[in-house]
Amino acid sequence: MTPTYEQANLWFTPAREVRFWRKVDKTADGCWLWRGSLTESGHGQIDFNGHNVRVHRLTWLLARKQDIPEFIPDSDGEYVPFVVRHLMCDQKKCCNPAHLAGGSQGENVEDTWRIHLAYKLDAERRAREKYSEQPFVGYFSDHAAIPIPPLAETQDSYRLGFPMHYPAIPLQHLPTQ
Ligand SMILES: [Zn+2]
Repeated sequence: MTPTYEQANLWFTPAREVRFWRKVDKTADGCWLWRGSLTESGHGQIDFNGHNVRVHRLTWLLARKQDIPEFIPDSDGEYVPFVVRHLMCDQKKCCNPAHLAGGSQGENVEDTWRIHLAYKLDAERRAREKYSEQPFVGYFSDHAAIPIPPLAETQDSYRLGFPMHYPAIPLQHLPTQ
């Protein structure tokens, strides 16, 4: 159930407002994380006259002073269910209306992919930076770096061929993954 703006506005009395903000944790990232009960999907929920209402939908309509539409035309002009998306932070518990945007379920799924891709690329970049600092540490290993052996001077080690200009690292010294 989602209330209309008018219903929500009447319901949001000063007493309820106090109780509401007690359950919100404002983080440094600007997220308003719901500390109250959660839905099975992980969204904040609140008792609204005996109905469970998702908190981000409540703050969305209260902030915009408008009802949440049931449907929205998609790019082809076809009407599809309207959803409130966690566009800026991908935090299901966040109910900061500035982090929320309305859209279609299709757009919502795309957001998830975009956010996950950005996260993956960032994790990849950080891993690469760490790896370049200590190239002999295994990619996913937190073992100490293996010192780079000095260039081999003996003829024997050159038999190993390019690009192994230094003696092969004994197996027992290789980091385990
Ligand atoms: Zn947020």
